[in-house]
Amino acid sequence: MKLDAPTLVTVTVFVTVVMGALYLLSWSQTRRTRALGFLGAAQVIGALAVTLFGLRGLSPDWLSVGVANAAMLLAFGLIWGGACSFEARRVPAGAIAAGPLVWLAACLVPPFAASLGARVILASAVAGLYCALAARTLWHHRGERLPSRAPAAILLASEALLIWARIPATLVLAVPPTGTPTETAWVAALCFLALLYSVAVSVLFMALAKERLEAEQRRAAETDPLTGIANRRALAAEAGRALAAGPTALLLFDLDHFKRVNDTFGHAVGDAVLVGFCTAAGQVLPAGAAFGRLGGEEFACLLPGAGPAEAVAAAESVRQAVAAMRPDLMPDLSVTVSVGIARGSAEFETLLGLADRALYQAKAQGRDRVVLAGPDLRQAA
Ligand code: GH3
Ligand code: MG
Ligand code: MG
Repeated sequence: MKLDAPTLVTVTVFVTVVMGALYLLSWSQTRRTRALGFLGAAQVIGALAVTLFGLRGLSPDWLSVGVANAAMLLAFGLIWGGACSFEARRVPAGAIAAGPLVWLAACLVPPFAASLGARVILASAVAGLYCALAARTLWHHRGERLPSRAPAAILLASEALLIWARIPATLVLAVPPTGTPTETAWVAALCFLALLYSVAVSVLFMALAKERLEAEQRRAAETDPLTGIANRRALAAEAGRALAAGPTALLLFDLDHFKRVNDTFGHAVGDAVLVGFCTAAGQVLPAGAAFGRLGGEEFACLLPGAGPAEAVAAAESVRQAVAAMRPDLMPDLSVTVSVGIARGSAEFETLLGLADRALYQAKAQGRDRVVLAGPDLRQAA
């Protein structure tokens, strides 16, 4: 394949400017993902660097070599800045500016400016370092699972290695004199690779931003905003999975006389009691329990595979923990909970109906107690 340098430079500049503009537009509209702003700036500055590289021979060296490489290093630094911003880390502005500044200072030293080998080594060392740091930043935060995270980190790491590979290549191979056809072909090949990397990194960063947003929306759609536990939708989905695997116990909790709590102490205290109930229940429920809020002051817990005794014991432990809740600031406030339990492999809604009947019995028998759905009810399940 013959790589024509002027065409490649034109394509690279055009593609990176368009992508950079799209990124900056996307960032300016939401201002939410600042990383997209960094990436957009990196693209535009990278396009400027490529334009200046392309003017080699047509413009003075201080512009097509000195400023061009400084812009290129700044673009790589901004990619690292984008990675830091994406991970909500402090953006190392000083370190990002240091690379281009060191480069410009070195260019003021005549022997350095005159040596192609020295220039390639310094520029490659710094650019590769920025890529490696960006890769490390993304990898470091892999606890947040996003499908594009590993590909992005691997891509940036491989780009760092490729850039660093220019250092031994420069040391081992005789560096061709400026302007020869060999160098032009070399520049064209590098330009082509840089374009591919630039497109791939941009696409992956956009994907990362989108994946994070989707994960946040998914979490919000499955979480009860007041208590932070699973909502009815998430619990129903969990129940579907648990019931498909085998018999499951469903514990249905309803706070006793909760209306009185609201009427006596106010709605805000009522809210705090709901949160306190979740904390207390979360501390005593066994591992593997799926706990969620069905709505109002009604909560449910799934115990996959639990037998009747195990289910009653879990419900009892919650009931006792709630009865023992004593808010420091409100000694008069006492809260109790009634629990209805059903077991089986029926549909979630059927099981819920059975647990509700058991709960009704618990209320009728005086509240603050646990009732297991009787054999007749269990058979129906
Ligand atoms: P019972 O023992 O029979 O269950 O009596 P109760 O008062 O708990 O039952 P009822 O269903 O009459 O009242 C439930 C109350 O829960 C009424 C409603 O105002 C209150 N409630 C529902 N959701 C919330 C909430 O998010 N925050 C607060 N503070 N109160 C809520
Ligand atoms: Mg209720
Ligand atoms: Mg109630």
